[in-house]
Amino acid sequence: MINFLPGDRVAVLLPVPLPGPLDYLVGDTPLTPGDFVRVPLGKHFSTGVVWGPVADPQADFICRPVKESLPVAPLSDELRRFIDWVASYCLVPQGAVLKMAMSVPKALEPEKPPPPRLIAADPLPEGYKVTPTRARVMEAAWVPQSAADLARTAGVGAETVKAMAAAGALAEVEGGEIDAGPQPDPHHPGPTLSPGQRAAADTLRARIGAGFAVTLLEGVTGSGKTEVYFEAIAQALAAGRQSLVLLPEIALSAQLLARFEKRFGVLPTVWHSDLGDAERRRAWRAISRGHAKVVVGARSALFLPFPDLGLVVVDEEHDGSYKQDEGVCYHARDMAVVRGHLGGLPVVLASATPSLETAANVEAGRYGKLILPSRHGGASLPEVALVDLRRDPPPRQQWISPPLQQAVATCLEAGEQALLFLNRRGYAPLTLCRTCGFRLQCPHCTAWLVEHKAGGRLQCHHCGHYARRPEECPNCQAEESFTACGPGVERVAEEAAMLFPEARIAIMASDLLPGPKAAAELVARMARREIDLLIGTQIVAKGHHFPLLTLVGVIDADLGLAGGDLRAAERTYQLLSQVSGRAGRAEHPGRVLLQTYQTEAKVLQALAKGDAEGFARAEAEDRRAGGWPPYGRLAALIVSGADSPMVEKVAQQLARVAPRDPSIELLGPAPAPLALLRGQHRRRLLLKSPKQTNLQAYIRHWLGLLKLPYNIRVQVDIDPYSFL
Ligand SMILES: [Zn+2]
Ligand SMILES: [Zn+2]
Repeated sequence: MINFLPGDRVAVLLPVPLPGPLDYLVGDTPLTPGDFVRVPLGKHFSTGVVWGPVADPQADFICRPVKESLPVAPLSDELRRFIDWVASYCLVPQGAVLKMAMSVPKALEPEKPPPPRLIAADPLPEGYKVTPTRARVMEAAWVPQSAADLARTAGVGAETVKAMAAAGALAEVEGGEIDAGPQPDPHHPGPTLSPGQRAAADTLRARIGAGFAVTLLEGVTGSGKTEVYFEAIAQALAAGRQSLVLLPEIALSAQLLARFEKRFGVLPTVWHSDLGDAERRRAWRAISRGHAKVVVGARSALFLPFPDLGLVVVDEEHDGSYKQDEGVCYHARDMAVVRGHLGGLPVVLASATPSLETAANVEAGRYGKLILPSRHGGASLPEVALVDLRRDPPPRQQWISPPLQQAVATCLEAGEQALLFLNRRGYAPLTLCRTCGFRLQCPHCTAWLVEHKAGGRLQCHHCGHYARRPEECPNCQAEESFTACGPGVERVAEEAAMLFPEARIAIMASDLLPGPKAAAELVARMARREIDLLIGTQIVAKGHHFPLLTLVGVIDADLGLAGGDLRAAERTYQLLSQVSGRAGRAEHPGRVLLQTYQTEAKVLQALAKGDAEGFARAEAEDRRAGGWPPYGRLAALIVSGADSPMVEKVAQQLARVAPRDPSIELLGPAPAPLALLRGQHRRRLLLKSPKQTNLQAYIRHWLGLLKLPYNIRVQVDIDPYSFL
């Protein structure tokens, strides 16, 4: 361990987007790398992390001294190297990445000492009358505990405990160490595994503590992947190490948490954006102290200060929401692999429909692969059929075709549940004037306003701008002339209510569910059969088990295919096969109907045949032939600013000064598909290169050739996913 002694100079990284760490003078206390310190910055103080020796020990400028070092566990060497790596790969300042690791600044402040604990006084004060209520408290107070806990255990009011303490019937004991709380128990009896699951679990168990290795755990929905990686967690727990499970949509993980509790006896520590400040602080501290042994979290959990991480699991590794495309643009699955590599620990990627990236890594021998073939419990896969909307169109202004309507009716008559899937929130995606064709558009984005009947307004799904529906058309002044075009889930629900008046219908869409509790409640109502027909967006696709759901109708299977996005077909396959997987469990076989205008599309044919492998092979061939990821590399530069001509000018200048490199193809500048987003005009340049090209070095050099005007921003997105 390097020590920096009083009088030494030391580099301190601050969670701000400066080009690098700043130099400071060590004060009275020696420091080591990773220590959290308060340092002066301008006229204020800021908290940062000791990053290492200064870059230039010979420089003779004057440094300001470190004010104090904070009494918290230092940031591990592994996490510091990870931050450096991510910054360099994503071409962002290290401080911007450190900010993600220091996302709870309050957790670094001194903690309140734990409340004093109370124990039954012995002997009792003379003449103290022991009523039955007091006796209950005395009985509970044979182990020291806080007043609040004591009141809860004894089933009495807080006042009673307070009065007894004041009367001397309860004595205070010294508040001890901060309690780690109940811990997950690897030996807690869990569910019985099938032979296939057991074999996979044994392989994963053997990886714990055996260094870096990435394993793809592949299995269809319901094959029991979760139970298998739980065994790897059990092994890490037994070895005393921490585990991290990444989930794409943590808010919807109620069922996963319940299964975890069943396996390990307690809930894991959770980490997501809906946590309150106090919970966030508690979780961050528990993780940094090593008390939180298992963390289930969204992508940002990757930057938490685990002192002793022993396993990373990325569930639903193919999910597009692992890619963050604002601020620090990173892909949490890929960075999880990097974190595993730097920490020398195993990484498990779980999916029913692995991404082409992961499949290519398996094929190249970089990742191992475990397959869970059959559905746990012996259920068969659902039967998937296409409904050709050209042949069987729904009536005008409706979206449920006659064959789908028939199938829903049959399903409901049998007392089973059905799901209608449409990945579009709101009532209608477009509102236009019948008289002149004027479309209601967001003033800040290149996007139509989406009508939401529930909130009674029109809303932009990109910036949140909303407005009431105008009385008259702003273009032709015609009154009452606006009409809704196309369906959102709310409109499909309206149609379903008309077609199936007896059915109990519910909508599952993120904007209609105020938080994780509401989502869990809806899932529970579905499981209790209080809902016959569920209408939902992609949030229903995420791992919920509905044993009586036997029919899935996909309203618009073509929706994700429009737009010419590189991954459109892959994403459509993943999403629709995930939604299809909701149909049928155990003894109830499932049926899936996909409504489409393009029955001949490769991806829909593959879905109908259940030919995942054939689809992946064909898709991989196309990408390989075109030199697209995962067989080539992409990077996007988004030039943005409020002043449109200036944005255009800078984008053109950038293209002009781009250094020649025969291995790199420069596309653009072109208006980004969302040419206006939140009031910012955007132009995009796309770079395409073979896999071995160092695109980062090229871009770093390139951006160094141009001094940007202060009001123009250039954002780099390495491996872009969203082509917004
Ligand atoms: Zn009009
Ligand atoms: Zn907008």
